[in-house]
Amino acid sequence: MKYIFGPVFSRRLGLSLGVDLVPYKVCSMDCLYCEVGKTTLKTFDRREYIPVDEVIGELKSFLSKKPPVDYVTFSGFGEPTLNSGLGKVVEFLKSEFPQIPIALLTNSSLLFRDDVIADVRDIDIILPSFDAAFEETFKKVNRPCSELSVELIKIGIRRLREETNVKIWLETLFVKGINDSDAEVKAIGNFIFEIKPERWQINTVVRPPAYDIKGLSVNELEKIKTFVGYPETEIIGKSYAERKKMPVKDIKIEILELVKRRPCPVDEIADALGLLEGEVKVALDALLKEGKAEYVFYGNKMYLKGKEHS
Ligand code: SF4
Repeated sequence: MKYIFGPVFSRRLGLSLGVDLVPYKVCSMDCLYCEVGKTTLKTFDRREYIPVDEVIGELKSFLSKKPPVDYVTFSGFGEPTLNSGLGKVVEFLKSEFPQIPIALLTNSSLLFRDDVIADVRDIDIILPSFDAAFEETFKKVNRPCSELSVELIKIGIRRLREETNVKIWLETLFVKGINDSDAEVKAIGNFIFEIKPERWQINTVVRPPAYDIKGLSVNELEKIKTFVGYPETEIIGKSYAERKKMPVKDIKIEILELVKRRPCPVDEIADALGLLEGEVKVALDALLKEGKAEYVFYGNKMYLKGKEHS
């Protein structure tokens, strides 16, 4: 498969089948924190970067086997809404596999456009980014195309709220010393209260970023949550540094929660929990010794499975 990947566990969406609609790092931004890498083609042009008929072919052959999938998620190597065939893929999924909800991770840059709003209106959950309320900060943290501005991002997110019924899980990723000043957080908070997303997810740098930057501690994220006071706020990012301080017993509990639901290979567990594979293995050994989990083989891969009543 060239354009679909997974399913992988994600804390937010469960077992998610990823769909890539643009080649490696084709994006309208070049965010400091990007986990994929530095943007190689920064563009604002909407076109069929990847032939969507091929994407549809891959989805059809994979989903027809009825694999356990909680979401089909447009995400991956760049900004999915740059592909002008997005709406065609959504339409295909809704007509052939209506039982599987669709999610979209987007940087919000093209939501101001009529054609993009039309393409996304049947998606179930959209996770748009909103990292800065001031123009200067926006340019620093997201390093956007010259055509983009905070105002355009706001217009797009407002359109999503006012013209569609999709659930909005708005995400703000905080970078130390860049978009975490009181004035910035206050202004971001004002926009959150205006949009009233079903969830406001606050995140920080959890994986190796494209540029040399630092994330916030959970304590600092907690302070932002309290300062803004939006009721539906979730902290979703814990930096590696903080994760490493997690005692093995806590890591064990989190792993067990995952593998009781579905068997999962070690790399996916590490990915889903934002841990290093070494950390996961230490906790896994303990779970195996305690008889709370076991390994099962499927295909040529080893999965960890939670034992019943563990
Ligand atoms: S919008 Fe997403 S893919 Fe594009 S640079 Fe930012 S984090 Fe990376």
